[in-house]
Amino acid sequence: MQTVKKLFGPKNSPLAESLRCLRGKQHIRRKLDKTVYAQTRCISTTQHVNKDFRPEVGQVNNLMDIGTRRILDEDKDLFRENVRRFFTEEVSPYHAQWEKDGQVSRELWLKAGEQGLLGVNTPAEIGGIGGDFIDSMIVLEEQCYSNCSGPGFILHSDVVMPYLRHFGTKEQLEKYIPDMVAGKKIGAIAMTEPGAGSDLQGIRTNAVKDGDDWILNGSKVFITNGFMSDVVIVVAVTNTEAKSKAHGISLFLVDAGTPGFKKGKKLEKIGLKAQDTSELFFEDVRLGPESVLGEINKGFYYLMMELPQERLMAASIGQAACEWMFEETRAYIKQRKAFGKTIADLQVTQHKMAEMKTEICIGRAFIDQCYELHSVKKLDSYTASMAKYWNTDIQNKIATQCLQLHGGWGYMLEYPIARAFLDARVQPIYTGTNEIMKELIARQIVSDK
Ligand SMILES: Cc1cc2nc3c(=O)[nH]c(=O)nc-3n(C[C@H](O)[C@H](O)[C@H](O)COP(=O)(O)OP(=O)(O)OC[C@H]3O[C@@H](n4cnc5c(N)ncnc54)[C@H](O)[C@@H]3O)c2cc1C
Repeated sequence: MQTVKKLFGPKNSPLAESLRCLRGKQHIRRKLDKTVYAQTRCISTTQHVNKDFRPEVGQVNNLMDIGTRRILDEDKDLFRENVRRFFTEEVSPYHAQWEKDGQVSRELWLKAGEQGLLGVNTPAEIGGIGGDFIDSMIVLEEQCYSNCSGPGFILHSDVVMPYLRHFGTKEQLEKYIPDMVAGKKIGAIAMTEPGAGSDLQGIRTNAVKDGDDWILNGSKVFITNGFMSDVVIVVAVTNTEAKSKAHGISLFLVDAGTPGFKKGKKLEKIGLKAQDTSELFFEDVRLGPESVLGEINKGFYYLMMELPQERLMAASIGQAACEWMFEETRAYIKQRKAFGKTIADLQVTQHKMAEMKTEICIGRAFIDQCYELHSVKKLDSYTASMAKYWNTDIQNKIATQCLQLHGGWGYMLEYPIARAFLDARVQPIYTGTNEIMKELIARQIVSDK
């Protein structure tokens, strides 16, 4: 079992500290043991069950119960409890206001930094928290379980930071990582343009060499964390004469406030209301050589290397959202009455719930398998694409069915299921549309290699 020190590295974040305290509190340990025991009693094949057995989510009462899943352990349960508390206390009560504001507060980012929830999977040696990939996914899952889509933590920690970690210079790491982990600097990545989304090689934003500097021009759209961003990884064409466009694309680190870099308005979306999604404009932005991330003209390959993790995260959001929607709906149908009994008493409802639970448990098995593969660096682009396509499609199917079971109330924004339904819609679109995912999956199927 991993020690807390190994999980959270030498950094003395309050979260790591609180976990150390929690480990000393036996009542918490007893509580966890009791939960696991209570749950395992429900399993019919009891001869295979022992104290250390961790049931899978479908085997316990609630899909979001702590103490489940064989890929996790007690340290991760304790971490999850703390993360859950953070979203319950620091995010949920303020989310409605942030939805009106179109963004979360700066203070939230600082609080998340103080609690050690940013850069969880970034190594401690470079200023991160030093947890593993699954620790990071616990933060993502708990955010989904809170049904609060506003904070762009995952993009910041698990999309932007990995580029720095894998391709950044020592100076770039020192400049950005500690502040990003503290929530003092918010990260974004800008690939998409008004004229190019799926076809990334069609981008027009470009950087032209001027002495040692680069002059950046162009515009980006739909950029998550864009409005609040302090640093943006900008994808730009740097060699128009390359044998293919993929050979002429580079990544640049552009700081907010750099002359010529302007942020557009926060875009009005049908969902993700508290997440700031923005246009970004670059007009003769002068960047020194220290702004180039990795090698020049290698940007497209860097993007291809990082995309499987991004796609797995979209899939994971889909999965955790399904688990939350299912439980939200289960609670609703058990108390909502029609024709003298509850909606849950109707066989048609029970069958629908049975179908949904089965699909959700299948999804969880695949996602956990992907987590394991990714943890040993074996997650390939095709498998990540399958997860992204399937789990986000299922998320929308489950959202539709759960909303339906809420009747007219499900259509009312004051009901959380309505928000979950609207938030789900983007999932098959971003981080590569599901049509593109199928292209990638099919490429391997028909290939002779
Ligand atoms: C809320 C939100 C947040 C986002 N955040 C970011 C971000 O942080 N950074 C960023 O860079 N981008 C971001 N995006 C952009 C997102 O990744 C793109 O919208 C997505 O890649 C699709 O590109 P597009 O919108 O240009 O659609 P298009 O590429 O124009 O596609 C239109 C339709 O055609 C289909 N299509 C296109 N090509 C093919 C093909 N070869 N075969 C079959 N079908 C095809 C698509 O699947 C789609 O259905 C975000 C988008 C949204 C909505």
